[in-house]
Amino acid sequence: MASKMASCIFCKIIKGDIPCFKLYESEKTLAFLDINPLSRGHALVIPKFHGAKLTDIPDEQLSEILPIAKKLVTATGAVEYNILQNNGRGAHQEVDHVHFHMIPKPNAEEGLGVGWPQQ
Ligand code: AMP
Repeated sequence: MASKMASCIFCKIIKGDIPCFKLYESEKTLAFLDINPLSRGHALVIPKFHGAKLTDIPDEQLSEILPIAKKLVTATGAVEYNILQNNGRGAHQEVDHVHFHMIPKPNAEEGLGVGWPQQ
C-alpha cells in the first residue's frame, strides 16, 4: 500500500508535491479542478484516504464527498451536471485513487458563478 501511495498522483496532490487548483479541503476530503476538463468547472472530489476503488475506501472517509460535490454544483450555478465515479480500466478509470467527477454540462456554462475559477 505504501508504495502505491508513493506513486499515486492524487496522493502527491494531497501532500502538496504536485500543484492543483484547490476548491475545498478538510481533514479527509480534497476538491480541485480537473487538469483536462470536459467542460468549464469540471472538478474532482477525492478522499484523502488512498484506495483505488470505491470498495477500498472506509465509509467514514466518504461521508463528505457528495455534500462537497453538491457545494461545487451550487458554486458553479450549474443547472445540468454529471456526478461520475469510475472503477477499473474497463470502466474508464485512469487514476487509481478514488475520485468523483463533478462535470457541469457545457450548455450550463452561462450559469457558472462569478468568482468560479476560469479554465
Ligand atoms: P478517471 O478517468 O475517472 O480516472 O479520471 C481521472 C481524471 O484525473 C481525468 O479527468 C484527468 O484529467 C484528471 N487528472 C489527472 N491528473 C491530474 C492532475 N495532476 N490534476 C488534476 N486532474 C488530473
